[in-house]
Amino acid sequence: MIIRTYIGLGSNLGDSQQILREAVAKLAGLGPAQVSRLYQSPPMGPQDQPNYLNAVVQLDTALEPLALLDQLQQFEQEAGRVRLRRWGERTLDLDLLIYGQQQIQDERLTVPHIGILDRDFVVIPLLDLDAHLQLNGHPLKDLELVQQASLTVIADQSWANA
Ligand code: ATP
Ligand code: MG
Ligand code: MG
Repeated sequence: MIIRTYIGLGSNLGDSQQILREAVAKLAGLGPAQVSRLYQSPPMGPQDQPNYLNAVVQLDTALEPLALLDQLQQFEQEAGRVRLRRWGERTLDLDLLIYGQQQIQDERLTVPHIGILDRDFVVIPLLDLDAHLQLNGHPLKDLELVQQASLTVIADQSWANA
């Protein structure tokens, strides 16, 4: 069965735009994919690190959730990700935000991703891909943080093809 999934992308080390572009290409190898606009956002957690580039990919895939997570973690490793500190700087973060309508509580995987409702850099790009997207029956577009977003649009939805 093909499931519609959403994957959050972030980078604030190295050539972030190139790293994200390569990540989109790899994700597109897993099934039909669409990409949000590209954003810049202030760091979450430790403030003594560079701003992030963020985007979200909508991926339709037949992969099971843990198999998809394996792929995401492999792509992070291929981008040279090293874990330094919690919410610290990284070349590539790939988070499985939404997997169809499924709720998953596994020791390796919580879906929907725990941070969605608090993170403008996730919600705003999700809305690029589906302006009517709902989480647990609530439209994301009605969230307060949508009106107070602290992120900047860097490029339109063609950025990943360039
Ligand atoms: P956050 O998850 O708050 O955005 P982070 O992305 O910096 O923080 P990571 O270091 O990338 O956290 O991942 C830590 C662990 O989170 C991973 O080992 C993974 O097993 C687990 N995890 C749980 N749920 C998810 C999910 N939905 N997507 C990706 N990883 C997840
Ligand atoms: Mg993350
Ligand atoms: Mg992560």
